[in-house]
Formats: sequence, structure tokens, C-alpha cells
Amino acid sequence: MTGESRTLEDFRTEVRQWCRTNIPVDWRRAQTGVSDREFVEFQQSWFQRLRADGFAVPHWPKEYGGGMSSAEQVVLYQELAAHDAPRLVLAFVSIHHAAATLLAAGTDEQRRRHLPAILDGEIWCQGFSEPGAGSDLAALATTARRGPDGYVVNGQKLWASGAQYAEWCLLLARTDPDAPARQGISYFLLDMRSPGVEVRPIRQATGESHFCEIFLDDVVIATDRLVGRENTGWQVAQRTLGAERGMTMLELAERLGNGGFGRLVESCPLDDPVVLDRLAALEIELTGLRALCADFVAGAAPGPADASIVKLYYSELLQRMTDFGTEMAGLAAHTELRKPLSSGWESGAWMLDFLGSWEWTIPGGTSEIQRTIIGERGLGLPREPRGK
Ligand SMILES: Cc1cc2nc3c(=O)[nH]c(=O)nc-3n(C[C@H](O)[C@H](O)[C@H](O)COP(=O)(O)OP(=O)(O)OC[C@H]3O[C@@H](n4cnc5c(N)ncnc54)[C@H](O)[C@@H]3O)c2cc1C
Repeated sequence: MTGESRTLEDFRTEVRQWCRTNIPVDWRRAQTGVSDREFVEFQQSWFQRLRADGFAVPHWPKEYGGGMSSAEQVVLYQELAAHDAPRLVLAFVSIHHAAATLLAAGTDEQRRRHLPAILDGEIWCQGFSEPGAGSDLAALATTARRGPDGYVVNGQKLWASGAQYAEWCLLLARTDPDAPARQGISYFLLDMRSPGVEVRPIRQATGESHFCEIFLDDVVIATDRLVGRENTGWQVAQRTLGAERGMTMLELAERLGNGGFGRLVESCPLDDPVVLDRLAALEIELTGLRALCADFVAGAAPGPADASIVKLYYSELLQRMTDFGTEMAGLAAHTELRKPLSSGWESGAWMLDFLGSWEWTIPGGTSEIQRTIIGERGLGLPREPRGK
């Protein structure tokens, strides 16, 4: 026991030392108001710096370059957050969603082809959502029909994060239009350089283009790029969707509690009792969030709705904090025009962070969907009426 805890403390000391010497100074400036190319270069170089010391994919199996225990991952993420390191926003889908999917359902050949390439910086996006198929993903209408050279894909994807930079896409398409909705979907690895793929970035209120539309016009995907069997895409997709939970929420909660709250306190008049009262209330909520995340990661309170509770709690607290930060900053918050290529509170500009905070209440299941899950699975309330 003592030995174990000492080892973990040694690891913490090592990570702390690493953070002090490796985190790029003033990284926000390197990601703010720069061109897409400069953003990609910065993110890639940060990824490779982490990778060089085994910190980029700690959650992967050892044979592919990971192999850290959950306890070590917690320490790593806590220290990266405490030292305000940049997040791997560009590699997020590659190292979490794509890797988890390939490890759980890919062929040996698919794993051999893509996992080392991801470590070398291959960028992925996720093509699940469509106009008319977001919360109700099973309603997706993009089709993939067998042709002589593989599957021929036609349709439109929406809100694909980072698709303008991506070389590969995790794609869901309907292979059997006559089967019940969830049984007629297949899961593909799409090469974004294929003829017929068109990516159109969407400009957001913050000025950045976090996500894109993808148009697919007679795009051919070879049969060996099918993941799992034909028409089992819904089950494969559950692996993808489960990949971003747990550690990611812990990291985000730590970052909110460290840099986020610290910046909020700095921007507040601390001689005002009303302000102090609101800060105290937020700090209590933050403490609750961190405790929830720690329990979730440790599997200490495994309940059917835990992931939904953590996500709902985080995203709504993030909104309240950035809202308060905007209020405290006053007019200055509204006139800051810097364009951050990051997410959540991380730009350091309150108004932009407040606008960005709304992102978190939507993907991975909107707040309304999370509340339904908590009500039904967590509290055992009667199920809401479902459509067909
Ligand atoms: C920052 C960000 C990044 C994203 N990245 C990606 C990505 O990389 N790849 C990708 O494929 N998608 C991505 N998405 C899309 C995201 O998954 C969808 O936006 C999400 O699933 C919601 O779908 P929708 O936008 O179609 O809204 P809808 O499903 O149309 O919902 C509209 C409103 O109705 C509510 N609603 C719908 N159904 C119910 C119900 N049964 N009960 C109660 N309320 C309901 C919703 O909660 C919401 O408030 C991203 C979205 C965001 C914001």
C-alpha cells in the first residue's frame, strides 16, 4: 500500500517536472488569431512532445504505446490541468473515438494501418450527425450501397468537428433501407481525400469554425474499410460514443477548477460581499463536480446514469461560471475580438468562453436527453413515450 502510493507520488513528481519544462510558454497566443495551418502545426508539435514521453495516449494498450493504470492517468490529467497545459483538441477524435473503435471492433489490418499513423499525427473526424439525425441518430439517411468496387456513399453529414483538417472519418451510413432503423446501419472508415467528398466549414458566433458540413457524392469506400459486419454499425457506434467519457470529464473538471476558477477570482472585486457569495457558491459546485468525476473514474459509484450526471453537471456549471465571468468583465468582455481555436473557457476571453460553453450542452447527448436518461435509468421514473 505504502509502496503503491509512493510510486504514484514519484510519478506525480515526474509529471510536474515534465510540465515545468515542456509546456509551451504563452500557448494561448500560439492558438489565437492564427491561420489554420499554424493552429495545426502547434497542435501537432504539442502532441508529439507529449508522445515522446508516453503522455499522449496513456489510455491505449501498452503494445500500441499506452499502458498507464487508471490511477496514473488521473495523476497525469490532474497535473496537466494544474499546469494549464494546452488540450489536444485536434487529436481528440483520433486518440479517443477512432482508437477505441478500432481496438474494440476493427480488424488487425485496420489497427495496424491506423493506430501507428494516429501516433504520427493522423487526424480523424466523426461523421455521425446529419440534418434530421442528431439526438435521434438512428434516423440517419446517408446511404451506402454495394457496388463493384466497394460501397457507394451518398448523403450529408453535419457538425463534424475538425473535418476541415481530417484525413479520415468515422462514418455511419445506411446499408439496408428496409431494416428497422438501428439494424440497417454500417460503420466505415472514410478516406477524406476520396473523390466526391466535399467539406464546408461552418462559421460560429465565436468567429471560429469548430465544425463542418460534409457532402458525399458517389464516394466509393472499399469493403475492407467496413468496421464490424454490414448492418452492425449501431453496436460499433456505441463503442465510439462511450470513448470520450470518464477521464475526459475528469480532465475538464480539473481545468475548470484550476485555471478557470482562478481566472474568475482574479477578475472579480473581492471586497463586494455579493460577489464573494456567488464565488463561494461556484466553488462549492466545483468541489462537487470534482468529487463526482473522481468517483466516476474510480468506478466507486457505478450507476446507470453516472456519465449523464457528470456531463450535465459539468456543462451547466461551465455555463454559469463563464456567464458570471462575462458579467464581471463588463463591456470589455464584449469588445474582445480575439479568435481562439480552442474550446470551453480556455480562450481566456470571457464572452467567447461563454458562447463556447453552449457547445458542451449539445454533443454526446443534449442536456434534455441527459435529463431523460437520469430520470429513467437513475431515478427509475416512468419511460417517456417513444416514437416508432
Ligand atoms: C461542439 C459540437 C461538436 C460536435 N461534433 C460532432 C462531430 O464531430 N461529429 C458528429 O457527428 N456530430 C457532432 N456534433 C453534433 C451533435 O452530436 C448533435 O448536435 C447532437 O446530437 C444534437 O443533435 P441535433 O443538433 O440534431 O439536435 P436535435 O436532436 O434536433 O435536438 C434539438 C433539440 O430538441 C431536443 N430533443 C430532441 N429529442 C429529444 C427527446 N427525445 N427528448 C427531449 N428533448 C429532445 C434536444 O435536446 C435539443 O434541445 C457536435 C455538436 C457540437 C455542439
